[in-house]
Amino acid sequence: MNPVNPPNSADVGPAAGRDTGLSARRRPIIEPFKIKVVEPIKLTTREERVAHLKKAGYNAFKLRAEDVLIDLLTDSGTSAMSADQWAAVMRGDEAYAGSKSWYRFESAVKGIFGFRHVIPTHQGRAAERILFTTVCRPGHVVPSNTHFDTTRANIEAAGAEAVDLPIPEGLVPAQMHPFKGNLDVGRLEALIEEVGAERIPICMLTVTNNTGGGQPVSMANIRAVGEVCRKHGIPFYLDACRFAENAFFIKEREEGYADRPVREIAREMFSLADGCTMSAKKDGLANIGGFLATNDDALARQEENLLILTEGFPTYGGLAGRDLEAIAVGLEEVLHEDYLTYRIASVRWLGRHLTEGGVPIVQPPGGHAVYLDAAAFLPHVPPLQLPGQALVAELYVEGGVRGVEIGTVMFGHRDPETGEEVPSRMELVRLAIPRRVYTESQIDYLVDVVLDVWDRREGIGGFRFVEQAPVLRHFTARFEPLYEMKT
Ligand SMILES: *Cc1c(COP(=O)(O)O)cnc(C)c1O
Repeated sequence: MNPVNPPNSADVGPAAGRDTGLSARRRPIIEPFKIKVVEPIKLTTREERVAHLKKAGYNAFKLRAEDVLIDLLTDSGTSAMSADQWAAVMRGDEAYAGSKSWYRFESAVKGIFGFRHVIPTHQGRAAERILFTTVCRPGHVVPSNTHFDTTRANIEAAGAEAVDLPIPEGLVPAQMHPFKGNLDVGRLEALIEEVGAERIPICMLTVTNNTGGGQPVSMANIRAVGEVCRKHGIPFYLDACRFAENAFFIKEREEGYADRPVREIAREMFSLADGCTMSAKKDGLANIGGFLATNDDALARQEENLLILTEGFPTYGGLAGRDLEAIAVGLEEVLHEDYLTYRIASVRWLGRHLTEGGVPIVQPPGGHAVYLDAAAFLPHVPPLQLPGQALVAELYVEGGVRGVEIGTVMFGHRDPETGEEVPSRMELVRLAIPRRVYTESQIDYLVDVVLDVWDRREGIGGFRFVEQAPVLRHFTARFEPLYEMKT
């Protein structure tokens, strides 16, 4: 049987167990594309990988991409573009103002998202910076299910406080829940009561919620958060980076949506909000780009003035005409149901096979990534010996796979009083799956690599820092293994 067509395509929710395959014989869910251009990847020996890793100070961020076989560092800006997107690139109109490409982009965004004003930006964080510097002041509080790191940083840079209000299930790695990305509406109401609606300039909801690999938010939750916000006069925005994946999960798991087109579901999600921020590097299927959208006329004018100052004229916003074209086409393609069926099935397939092999992961797998639970994978390695870091190093040595540590290396810190290192709450390794890039056999290879590391987990030890920067240390730190790595 083909890997991407597990018997139960939906693991949780009302559709659990429902066969979403195409035929009675459970035909495989296949990649809904054929390959026109290939990018060779370089096979390396274990010996070579050990040498590359050592040279990189055991930090995967410092590896050369060409020395990586399966690169799962991020799903951002790493999508493969389609023939139609490349054709659109050639059509790019590079006029400074009012280009044809701008009008095509604006019409694609309005057609799906439905907001009155669209402001193009070079990527998601630029949209965030413009939004938050316009609406936030010191003393303000901005709630969300969970803020993405650049979102939080831009809110804090504007002097406001970013508050995460996930449902309790969202914080328990092994717990199954169909909409683990939901915001805890009771806690939102309590927060409004406590600080006062006048100090909350905006409320965000990240769809899908990045935490745990893209956990979806239900339509009921989007509606409930929107209603609370409206009651208190608080503008409600979606961080829409993975809106199509979220809409597909709603179709699969939420009562009443099974027969609705994903595009309509997406439209309904946005109809409940006052605006959105978007990174087209995710569900725009593009390599760069983003936008900010709103229904507020006065706010849009202020935002455009800021845009002109730092990004560019409002009909290109820091993007080339050809980028606007690629995004306009990508936003349509990402809503194709055969694409989404394949996309979600392949991430689910990876999660299922790791789970069946006994590997502890964050459950259920989300839309764009599988998270390995490094603390449970290597229980004999204490957090301060960086189990996630050890796992990243071993995955690279074992099979040329590059994941990213999301644990004490990224989020640990020194206690300002004692000077002692405080570990992160969780030790995870994220395997983010680029869109339309890797085939099923490459995902199978990945499963084998992880299982091979799992089989010899007892011989894997910890790591220590030998060099670290005072901020964002994970990008540049150098490490050293505290054990003999298998070579
Ligand atoms: C990637 C991302 C952003 C920021 O977008 P960039 O294009 O990387 O600047 C914001 N929110 C979420 C949820 C993201 O995944």
